[in-house]
Amino acid sequence: MTASTSKYVIGNWKLNPASLNEAKALAAAVKAALADQTQVQLGCAPGFLHLSEVAAVLGDCAIWAGAQDISASTGVTGAFTGDVSAAQIVDAGARFVILGHSERRQYQGEDNPVLVKKIQQAIAADLVVILCVGETESQYKSGETLSVLEKQLSVLDGLGVPRSQLIIAYEPVWAIGTGLTPTVDEVVAVHRHIRATLADKELPEVCVLYGGSVNADNAAAFAEASEVAGALVGGASLKADAFAQIVAAFAS
Ligand code: PEP
Repeated sequence: MTASTSKYVIGNWKLNPASLNEAKALAAAVKAALADQTQVQLGCAPGFLHLSEVAAVLGDCAIWAGAQDISASTGVTGAFTGDVSAAQIVDAGARFVILGHSERRQYQGEDNPVLVKKIQQAIAADLVVILCVGETESQYKSGETLSVLEKQLSVLDGLGVPRSQLIIAYEPVWAIGTGLTPTVDEVVAVHRHIRATLADKELPEVCVLYGGSVNADNAAAFAEASEVAGALVGGASLKADAFAQIVAAFAS
């Protein structure tokens, strides 16, 4: 798979919804609302248990199914109890994987050495990697945002990740699920810094998405900035109509 278009709106369903039937209904509603739109590459990332059925509902429409994590230990099969491999999510219909989400960094202790392995497994399986980076509230307040991001992006050093398989999502931890967001100017400045940092790693022109409390009301303001190549959406991706309004903002 390649990250070939210039705008993306990706839904991170996290540990939602509770049942497979609800997940299939959400996928069907997203498909009904958005299957015909061609200006933005869309993706939905349900939980592992729902992935294959969500991918089947999306079928051959242009909306990607994806996953929220993969095993660091193997890309295929092996004695790794509880893990799900890159090959397994591809088999289930995934075209991308979200890696390094702040909730995994916080609750699962995911750090750069672990992420290096996951990125390698994902790239070998031909998945698009959506790599999440972002600072905590205290790091934001103490002006450490850019240095924190540089450390997180150093995970890419020496991996030879093809630009076509990489998307970055800038997600300030303090903006996720809180209703708070940085200003558009702050996001633009950070995105410029991320792109410059990646260019120094011979990764020019990588798409950088914004994530953190994006909703139907604020999406247009972010979408107006050319530095914002789309959005990674959590809570608002669980309602097809709100998700469709966010997509419309980035498509216009
Ligand atoms: C996320 O978890 O990636 C996210 C952006 O969440 P929310 O949109 O709910 O803030």
